[in-house]
Amino acid sequence: MEKSKTKPEQKGRDIGIDVAQPASACTDRHCPFHGELKVRGRIFSGPVIRDVVHKSTMIEFPRKLYIQKYERFEKRRTRIKAHVPPCIDAGKGDFVRIMETRKISKTKSFVVIEVRKNESP
Ligand SMILES: [Zn+2]
Repeated sequence: MEKSKTKPEQKGRDIGIDVAQPASACTDRHCPFHGELKVRGRIFSGPVIRDVVHKSTMIEFPRKLYIQKYERFEKRRTRIKAHVPPCIDAGKGDFVRIMETRKISKTKSFVVIEVRKNESP
């Protein structure tokens, strides 16, 4: 793949999965559409529960853990921090899809790839 360091592409590049392109362009190098960040690995979706940190978000979704002794499932929840590029507008309560990428910071290795406004899981 060739690198484009001079200017951001107006039209975002194809990240390899079926998501809508963001309406606006950005110059964030940690953007999968307009930067050089490659996405690979797992995809999760869930509502945004925290959006106070700049360019960051936290999503939460439930999962079940089987307890062999009681032959029942225990409810657990997963919270994942994800990067939000400036071209994607994800506020608290929005339902988003995140995809795994390389480590962006100490606690972030996911990036938001799609926002579905006011949609319940
Ligand atoms: Zn972007």
